[in-house]
Amino acid sequence: MGEMFGKNANGNLNEDARFDVIVLGVGGMGSAACYHLAKRGVRVLGLEQFSLTHDRGSSHGETRIIRKAYFEDPSYVPLLERAYQLWGELEAEAQERLFERTGLVLFGKPEESVVYRGTHESAKKYSIPMETLLISEAASKFPMFRAKAGESALYEPSGGFVLAEASVAAHARLARAHGALILENQTVLDYKSDDEGVVVRTREQVFRAEKLVITGGAWTKMLLADLGLPLRLKRMILYWFKASPEYALENGTPCFFFQDGEELTYGSPKRDGWAIKIASHNRGAWVEAPQDKFLLAPPADELTAMRKVLNERMPGVTGELVKFATCLYTMTPDENFVIDTHPVDSRIVFAGGFSGHGFKFAPVIGEILADLVQSGRTQHPIEFLHIR
Ligand SMILES: Cc1cc2nc3c(=O)[nH]c(=O)nc-3n(C[C@H](O)[C@H](O)[C@H](O)COP(=O)(O)OP(=O)(O)OC[C@H]3O[C@@H](n4cnc5c(N)ncnc54)[C@H](O)[C@@H]3O)c2cc1C
Repeated sequence: MGEMFGKNANGNLNEDARFDVIVLGVGGMGSAACYHLAKRGVRVLGLEQFSLTHDRGSSHGETRIIRKAYFEDPSYVPLLERAYQLWGELEAEAQERLFERTGLVLFGKPEESVVYRGTHESAKKYSIPMETLLISEAASKFPMFRAKAGESALYEPSGGFVLAEASVAAHARLARAHGALILENQTVLDYKSDDEGVVVRTREQVFRAEKLVITGGAWTKMLLADLGLPLRLKRMILYWFKASPEYALENGTPCFFFQDGEELTYGSPKRDGWAIKIASHNRGAWVEAPQDKFLLAPPADELTAMRKVLNERMPGVTGELVKFATCLYTMTPDENFVIDTHPVDSRIVFAGGFSGHGFKFAPVIGEILADLVQSGRTQHPIEFLHIR
């Protein structure tokens, strides 16, 4: 276990502490970057504007779906293979269950559904175990779900969900155990490079390091204003509804996707006897700034659409809303992530624009950022995610 770099014996911040790397933003990706860097013996400082595992960005709401047969683009599959390994290693080191391997079932019309086709193609290309089920087979294997005429189902046994806040907390806790200093409630106001490295200024203090990693989530466009990244923010809603016991994790309910035309609805089973979680991947509203995401209640049209899906697809889930949360997607035009070294300043690397599907990759993104900031390159195939 490394010493806590940057603090003196009394636990106070060392005014003249110099770091190898500063990680700006300690959410899903930043906590993973801090962990991988600290584990390699790098003197790392993580700066987070809020408290860890806060609900103002993109990494809260209990769970995130994880799957390998990637409908978005099979190029992500090698990264997922590594992410799966690293999730296992993280669970072992944290001595905590962070990944529930529930399996994932997808209902859609094979000839119409882009998600169905993409999932099938990725599975085929990378030999990912996948079961194709006729409606009758899906009905007996998953009696808690209803298929529609013309649909069939794909079942990926390697799918499931990871815990969102718990994973951020585990990465941060282990990063600290390996010697990282992570400071909360430290808003970075600006940063600049000079001959000696980077200078990062928060409201309270000025910090110096050799290199800077920017993992600012929904704030990335502002933090990298010089690059003019075409990032847009979308406010999304997560819902938890009351459901009968058959929808519980322990009773074998897997994670699920339903594609109905343009609508893609997904969710994960009841945990701890509580409520079932469900959300839409395509509904939501564009917002200008991260703080614009908050709502007092879900908009009536979105809630009605969600209840319609429940009514048609999950007869044991009542329309009784237990809780909802708002969250931000940071969208790129092609919905691929952007991970790169700053084109003008090679001391800065960044990862952003996760477009609503990044969390499952968090450990491998942390590893990639550690590679890029340490050596300027990575063996992971991320050319398709470079800034263009
Ligand atoms: C509703 C919803 C559902 C999702 N479902 C899935 C899913 O099922 N599967 C999946 O893989 N992905 C999913 N995602 C996407 C995934 O959660 C995100 O891609 C991921 O959480 C993004 O992590 P991040 O580190 O980029 O952002 P964040 O975790 O938000 O971290 C960015 C951090 O930077 C900090 N920061 C910003 N500016 C400053 C500053 N100036 N000073 C200091 N700190 C700063 C912020 O406070 C924040 O903590 C979903 C997202 C949402 C919103």
